[in-house]
Amino acid sequence: MEHIVIIGNGISGVTAARHIRKLSDKTITIVSAETDYFFSRTALMYVYMGHMKFEHTQPYENWFWEKNRIDLKKGYVKTIETKSKTLHFADGDTLQYDKLIIATGSKPNKFGWPGQDLDGVMGMYHKQDLDNLEKHAPSNDVCKHAVIVGGGLIGIELAEMLNSRSIPVTFLVREDSFWNGVLPSGESEMINRHIKKHHIDLRLSTNLREIKADENGKVKSVIIEETGEEIPCNVVGLTAGVSPNIDFLKGSDIEVGRGVKVNRFLETNIKDVYAIGDCAEQREAIGNRRPIEAVWYTGRMMGETLAQTICGNRIEYKPGHWFNSAKFMDIEYQTYGWVFSERNKQDYEQHFHWKHKDDTKCITVAYHKDTNKFLGINTFGIRMRHEVFDRWLTEERDVDYVMKNLQEANFDPEFYSHYEAEILSAYNNTLQTT
Ligand SMILES: Cc1cc2nc3c(=O)[nH]c(=O)nc-3n(C[C@H](O)[C@H](O)[C@H](O)COP(=O)(O)OP(=O)(O)OC[C@H]3O[C@@H](n4cnc5c(N)ncnc54)[C@H](O)[C@@H]3O)c2cc1C
Repeated sequence: MEHIVIIGNGISGVTAARHIRKLSDKTITIVSAETDYFFSRTALMYVYMGHMKFEHTQPYENWFWEKNRIDLKKGYVKTIETKSKTLHFADGDTLQYDKLIIATGSKPNKFGWPGQDLDGVMGMYHKQDLDNLEKHAPSNDVCKHAVIVGGGLIGIELAEMLNSRSIPVTFLVREDSFWNGVLPSGESEMINRHIKKHHIDLRLSTNLREIKADENGKVKSVIIEETGEEIPCNVVGLTAGVSPNIDFLKGSDIEVGRGVKVNRFLETNIKDVYAIGDCAEQREAIGNRRPIEAVWYTGRMMGETLAQTICGNRIEYKPGHWFNSAKFMDIEYQTYGWVFSERNKQDYEQHFHWKHKDDTKCITVAYHKDTNKFLGINTFGIRMRHEVFDRWLTEERDVDYVMKNLQEANFDPEFYSHYEAEILSAYNNTLQTT
């Protein structure tokens, strides 16, 4: 029986395994160095915040794997020998495969800061990071102050986590406004204010120079690059983005760039070796999409797609329209299609922005300035229906249609009965002035 080996028990690897099992009788082994069982990485924050136990982040009961004949192997793969189709583990063990799926996810970026490996410095990605945080920041008695380096979605989650235990946080953000490489300025500035309202010491245009240790090798402070200021702290969270976790492939003949290079079929340059999820890098752009997409649902889609190919029905990965969602403390964020920040805006792209006076809700609609074609929408504090925007993007609706029918996409008609007139009137005024 053909042996399919998957490195990585995250959403991508596990989805591939489950679908291969549905479609075939192949022997399947999932390898992971991190945990015995698959868990939901996106729920890690809720464990620290006391909303759930770690066991509750595991979507499948422990018996699921044996019942479905999916073997699990704990171990770190050090090297891959593609000619003999052999994995070599850090503990000296080996494993043969017929087909190999690399689904090794991401790792937190470190930029060579002095002190970045000290005790008390951590990313927020792996289960081990959560354990480390629990050890160094169990309470505000033990951790009097924390510093977070890097303003993005994981950084703000970490700030919220520490906030939940009343641990004072200084948040160092390189950009002059929060996540403004991605968010248009009206949204980014609203999030700046929201972060500050939560008593987080947000420092914009601020870089880390160095992390200093006490006499026991534990973090005691950080030094700010621009001013030389020293901020005492017990924990430093490094959340300056993630990159594909593929260092172990150096020296193998599998082609890598920033990630493992794949074609639209998720095939690498080596026969019978595939890559999916956060660690995969598309050789050719799919529409406007980035070559590496470190998000949950794309990992799941790649896993499902590749299972078909592995089981004899070779199909292309087609992710459809871009969407994503996240949370900035109490404000939910959703994005559908493409709304670029001022820094990355396309020359044809025009925005309509509306913000509620309570400063926690806003929308930005992007459209083509010549054709009026609807390009995308960002919403903050207003939950929208994915399927409606997906359909409107497919139908290539114009912005007038979208604005007039926004209510159809909204989960909360109450909100619209109050503010629809205001939003539409703001929109009509914008049109008259552009
Ligand atoms: C705190 C946090 C919050 C997030 N929130 C969201 C969100 O709200 N929405 C969203 O879309 N995305 C979110 N993400 C991103 C999302 O979790 C990832 O995109 C997704 O989990 C990636 O899945 P994956 O299967 O590709 O890899 P991973 O989940 O990273 O799994 C890869 C596994 O492979 C293992 N591995 C790596 N190398 C080896 C090796 N050499 N040998 C053995 N095992 C190895 C790793 O230890 C890991 O267990 C969040 C991420 C984090 C960290």
